[in-house]
Amino acid sequence: MGMSVTEHSYQVPMHHVNAEPSLRICIQGFGGNSACEGPFAVGTQIIQFQHRVDYVIQGFSGFSEYTFQDDVQVADVGNGTDDALWAAAAGSIGYVRSGANVGGNTGIFSKAAENNLAGLIFVNKHANCGQIEANDCVPIFKTSRIDEVQDANGGTVPSELPFIAMSKDAGEILEQAIFNATGTTGVLEMLMDVTNDQERTIYVPCGEIRGKSSEVVIVGGHHDTVYHGQGAVDDTSGTASVLEIGRQLSQIVNETGKPERTLRFCTWGGEEEGLYGSRAYVSAFQNSLKDDLRLYLNLDMSHVDADTANRGNSVTLIGNHPDDMDHLARITELYRNERSDVADRYDIQLRTLDGDDPDSNGMPDNSDHAPFVYDLGDERGRAVICYGSGSWEYHTYADTMERFNEESLGVSVTIYGTYMRFLAYSDS
Ligand SMILES: [Zn+2]
Repeated sequence: MGMSVTEHSYQVPMHHVNAEPSLRICIQGFGGNSACEGPFAVGTQIIQFQHRVDYVIQGFSGFSEYTFQDDVQVADVGNGTDDALWAAAAGSIGYVRSGANVGGNTGIFSKAAENNLAGLIFVNKHANCGQIEANDCVPIFKTSRIDEVQDANGGTVPSELPFIAMSKDAGEILEQAIFNATGTTGVLEMLMDVTNDQERTIYVPCGEIRGKSSEVVIVGGHHDTVYHGQGAVDDTSGTASVLEIGRQLSQIVNETGKPERTLRFCTWGGEEEGLYGSRAYVSAFQNSLKDDLRLYLNLDMSHVDADTANRGNSVTLIGNHPDDMDHLARITELYRNERSDVADRYDIQLRTLDGDDPDSNGMPDNSDHAPFVYDLGDERGRAVICYGSGSWEYHTYADTMERFNEESLGVSVTIYGTYMRFLAYSDS
């Protein structure tokens, strides 16, 4: 008995970084009369920011080729809540400080498009500060809901509106050189070779163990990462867990025989730009999933950082159906008793979110379970998810294997794998 493999591919909107970007400030010598570069650059100071560490390109950023000669102005938009500042920034690169709720990346990217800004810089002054790099707040990659930004831009993708996030320290250097200069005001160069108005192919590979019925239990995680980091925790941890559950269940099926239900193991592409892989898959198989989906199990950052003493040790198992949560409570109890060597090191929590609204008491809509829950018609699809803890490096260049704690993956692999095995051979 074996596992059959299918590779699905989908064309989806996607931005693509074509080349290393460049972000520099020139403070011209000779009271602003010297050139920025070349043999006539006398007394000129060039500040160079480091890609990935000082700044990262944001999801669906547009292209730019602003050189020192272009002398594009940078406008302080405060925390992004003042419409007058947005209007005044037309034609300039808007500089937004974190700290206010202006609808996240989608909100400020839309404001920048609506007000015809030449570019957008978001400086991180609040997230992960002092946790990764001295006292700095390391820049985080985030995506935008591109359809909303398109609406704000009159129906098209803002393909010439570059959008980056900066670290706190890099932002302060920019503020000093451009907004608070004591001498000559600095000039910004912003070269962002990205394409944001094309579709790209993403892949969804699935393994399947066919059961006696077409009713299906699916486990998945996303294999893409943010473009500028390794994505060790987000989400190599999840895809490794999917492969391990698949390996063990194959072995069990070989020993025990054909399961009652069909078991499927998938990894998703395009998650970080907006759940594109799982959405396309659910849309392609909508009818059969409506009839046959028994449960979708999502593993996205099901990982606990190795430094549990300083970063916490919680693993939270969340589901949207009380029957599933009853079974999981029983299995978790068994796990605590029989695998106390591992279980004792983690604070395993169970939560039921059985509402209809991701913003209040429903399943969140921030990972690949969302299409399974919310896109299968009126009835909510059944899903469980697992959140680990302690990944301060989330969506930064520092999400590397150095912080990996493979033992912690065992919690969700064992509990969810056991539940999959139970569902495989029972009619519950
Ligand atoms: Zn993720």
